[in-house]
Amino acid sequence: MLTPFKADRQHLMKVTVCLRPFRPAGPRLELERFGEKAVVHNYGHGGSGWSLSWGCAEDAVSLARSTGESEFAVIGAGVIGLTTALRLVESGAKVTIYAQEFPSETRSARATGVWSPSSRIALADHVDSGFTAQWEKWARHSYGAHRSLIGTLGDPVEYLPSYEISEPDRPRPPRASRRFMHLDRLVRDMEPAWSTFTAEEGILPGRQGNVGQGMVFNVASYADRLTRQFLMRGGKMVRRAFSDRAAMLDLPEKTIVNCMGYGAKSIWGDETLDPVRGQISWLVPQSDARYSMFYDGVFAVGRRDGVVLQYVGPNEDFGYGVTDESVDSAETERVLETMQRLFAT
Ligand SMILES: Cc1cc2nc3c(=O)[nH]c(=O)nc-3n(C[C@H](O)[C@H](O)[C@H](O)COP(=O)(O)OP(=O)(O)OC[C@H]3O[C@@H](n4cnc5c(N)ncnc54)[C@H](O)[C@@H]3O)c2cc1C
Repeated sequence: MLTPFKADRQHLMKVTVCLRPFRPAGPRLELERFGEKAVVHNYGHGGSGWSLSWGCAEDAVSLARSTGESEFAVIGAGVIGLTTALRLVESGAKVTIYAQEFPSETRSARATGVWSPSSRIALADHVDSGFTAQWEKWARHSYGAHRSLIGTLGDPVEYLPSYEISEPDRPRPPRASRRFMHLDRLVRDMEPAWSTFTAEEGILPGRQGNVGQGMVFNVASYADRLTRQFLMRGGKMVRRAFSDRAAMLDLPEKTIVNCMGYGAKSIWGDETLDPVRGQISWLVPQSDARYSMFYDGVFAVGRRDGVVLQYVGPNEDFGYGVTDESVDSAETERVLETMQRLFAT
């Protein structure tokens, strides 16, 4: 039988909120000229930034290298900036990250931390015809890169048993009003297979559902590892906030890689970038409850750096267009109560 999560106020260590940088057309990966500078954009990864980071970094590095320069400014120290900057220094370039927030302060540090490569990645009626193939390339490349970190110091990536409780009698939630793309099935062959479990198996008394092995990112050690590797290879990090894009014209580097996440909306004037709010309630790490669980709209992941609890809402419209990053206490009560109800049976 599974060890229940201790999901109560006595084990709640913090509540965080962040905005997914969602573009209906999918992430922006392209090169543009801005005054004397070449700018490579790499932002707008919605709910899939951790998952797709390495594949997108690969494309961003090719675009940056196509300028012929060997010194680059990367703006942003979230997962997209860190992976892009690391791949750039690994290619022999001189790289400086400029960022208002350093890795542990970014929105990336507030993610659930699971392999979710097509979570709020794009809308079917806004992407171009090549998008699915491009996404698959990012996803396959990224999955391999994450997997290569399994067993390394600090366990940035690991597989955890993952359970989804089925409740056949519960009414289906309403469909989202937008046509979000769901592409995960295209890359399922890379992942361990799932199976079902019955109530009689006693995994959770009276509960049945699906079980598999899910890839989990221990975000604290993952971001720390990326930062250390970048610095060890000669990269530099400078804290700097840009009030507008003209301020970037002063940078010594001629090529800028824009990894500003939702920050790109105001600075680069990308009106297509929409926020999708998400809130996580964090329980203290629980070493005897290392698994993930989906039950009644709540996703719980027993990561090494805390048990993250997230109410995902009735469908993917949940949080769409919401810019408020203050904590909703009712949502926290809901996730605690849902986990208590699951384990009370
Ligand atoms: C609740 C929630 C759960 C999620 N769970 C997952 C998950 O399980 N798996 C997954 O793959 N993805 C997940 N995501 C999505 C993922 O977190 C994002 O796609 C990812 O964090 C985007 O990273 P980023 O580096 O582009 O942006 P950010 O992390 O926001 O980093 C942006 C960087 O740019 C800097 N910046 C911005 N503006 C300026 C400025 N004006 N001047 C200087 N610097 C600036 C910031 O300081 C920061 O350093 C989740 C998102 C949310 C909200």
